[in-house]
Amino acid sequence: MGFQALNGQFSLMKNINEIEELIKLISKLPGLGPKSAKRIVLKLMNSRDELMKPMANTLNEVYKNVSRCKMCGTLKSNSVGCNNCENKDKKFNKICVVENISDQWSIENSSIYQGYFHILGGTLSSSNQRKEDLLITSLVDRVKKDSIEEVIIATSATVEGQTTAHYIKNSLKETKTKVSKLAQGLPVGGEIESLDDGTLFSAFKNRS
Ligand SMILES: [Zn+2]
Repeated sequence: MGFQALNGQFSLMKNINEIEELIKLISKLPGLGPKSAKRIVLKLMNSRDELMKPMANTLNEVYKNVSRCKMCGTLKSNSVGCNNCENKDKKFNKICVVENISDQWSIENSSIYQGYFHILGGTLSSSNQRKEDLLITSLVDRVKKDSIEEVIIATSATVEGQTTAHYIKNSLKETKTKVSKLAQGLPVGGEIESLDDGTLFSAFKNRS
């Protein structure tokens, strides 16, 4: 055993399946690798009641009660309904179309835009993304149903983002609604969520 330990082959942690599994799962999260996953697991083990237990419960609650809205793609509470597309108090005449929920959060935080959102859930060319999963049909339905006057396409300045924007524009032709795109001032390859408020502001203001 001493030999194995010296060789770095022997690991006590590897004998505990639950810990191994947890490390494997956490290292799949964005920005985390096995090394940081191990540190997180140790932190959780050292804060069982303050952190591990409430986190396990909260994860379970979120799993049960929060899901993506099938109509507009944003997150909704299953008990309350969708705050974005089913909200009848706020009457907006605009929909802003974004790729991901993180894009919606960036635009909301910058308070440049007042209106509904539509979250595609990806782009047309992203791998393993099927056209029918992108919620484009439901976007057309929403535009018709809620008498939307303008659709602002805020997909990234990437080839995929622009291909998707083009496809959406064509899909909306029959509705005769005004379709605009964020200004070309967006840096090439720029993803909405990584833009600063100033750039986002002028991209919205100069949309065409
Ligand atoms: Zn919705």
